[in-house]
Amino acid sequence: MSYSANNTGINKDTLVMYIDMNSFFAGCEQQRHPELRGKPVGVLTYDSPNATIIAPSIEAKKFGVKTGMRLPEARVVCPQIIPVTTHPSWYRQIHVDVMAILNSYCDDVIAKSIDEAVVNFTTYRLVYKDLAIVAKKIKADIKAKYDYLTCSIGIAPNSFLAKLATDLQKPDGLVVITPENIDMHLANLKLTDLPGIATANEKRLKLIGINTPLEMRHSSPALLRKAFGGIVGNYWYSRLNFGEVDLYSHETRTMSAMRTLSRQQRENRQSLESMLISLCTKLEQRMVKQGVFCKEVSFFIKYNDNTGWDTVVKLADPVQDAMELRNYILERVHDFEQTRHVETVFSNNTRSMCVAIQNFVSDSVLQYSLFDNRIKKDVLRKTMYNIKDKYGKNTVRKGSELIEPDVMKDAIGFGSVKDMLMNDDGEVRNKYLLEE
Ligand SMILES: [Mg+2]
Repeated sequence: MSYSANNTGINKDTLVMYIDMNSFFAGCEQQRHPELRGKPVGVLTYDSPNATIIAPSIEAKKFGVKTGMRLPEARVVCPQIIPVTTHPSWYRQIHVDVMAILNSYCDDVIAKSIDEAVVNFTTYRLVYKDLAIVAKKIKADIKAKYDYLTCSIGIAPNSFLAKLATDLQKPDGLVVITPENIDMHLANLKLTDLPGIATANEKRLKLIGINTPLEMRHSSPALLRKAFGGIVGNYWYSRLNFGEVDLYSHETRTMSAMRTLSRQQRENRQSLESMLISLCTKLEQRMVKQGVFCKEVSFFIKYNDNTGWDTVVKLADPVQDAMELRNYILERVHDFEQTRHVETVFSNNTRSMCVAIQNFVSDSVLQYSLFDNRIKKDVLRKTMYNIKDKYGKNTVRKGSELIEPDVMKDAIGFGSVKDMLMNDDGEVRNKYLLEE
């Protein structure tokens, strides 16, 4: 048997499936509590009259309930909404089971977040004649295990178009984008319907005369370079013309930092909170090195009696800064403690703490204009790491490192809003930047 041009042709073309669970958190609650099925449900981080809805059910979305709405706002459009508090460990169990189902069809599964995954079927082209049939089997397998959960599946020659395909039909969608039908699909879309194109990028494209996704696809790499100011323009041309730029751009799928606490460390809340900063700073350091931001952060705490507490925060804007990560986690901790009226989370019974981040976005494709003055902070953070690489670890330190030197000894980083003094003209001064 000879490996002729035919085989090369087959292997050259990638074939990717993207799976997006529909209204995942709310779906999990409805799966667990049948009495909630078919009803508008709003998942809350904590039980309070003014709590934020972090995940509306499919039914609630039909009434116009959106992620991020406060409960009273949601009641205006949907008076019968049923508030339910979140159960992250349950969602994680279902995530693990869905990943196992995907793995039973293909080895190359990358979890993008707790409710999204991309599967690279490229080397399975000869195993499965029709990926749409595989997609239907996957849906059936998920249904057999969790009968109330549905997902939208997209199939395309690259991961960007596969993800776009999941947005085209919700819930329970199955859309295949091919070179033959892509223009038909794009014709119905606005620029901001493309994942990664928000208002800032839309503005850049319109400035050079590109008003629709179809025009964008049929422009040229050179023109898109003009719009995006460099290589990012080439990426966008590639995405819409079947090139793969997103699938393996970051080798790390999850980064985590964990510490077991000594007896002395668990004794007071201050040192437990310092430990949290230290873990977040480690992750910040690794994100800066890899040039990525994250869109999801999880926090797990384990106690000596084998019980634990955990939370998952999905972020609207990608985050790299340690103190921002820590603030998102503390917000959840405080919410929880406030509702229970007890100081339970950072207890002196704490055995270990873990912060995990995933759903990474490359800093080269971030729309910095959306971040306003944050770009200055990002540049400064990078500069500081470069100085450390060049002149040694202790040349520069950030304010948070000084809280508790023992805990913070590995911690390097920059970017806490508290540490920063910014002039009206945007000049950044940091009182700790040249410490030591
Ligand atoms: Mg989803």
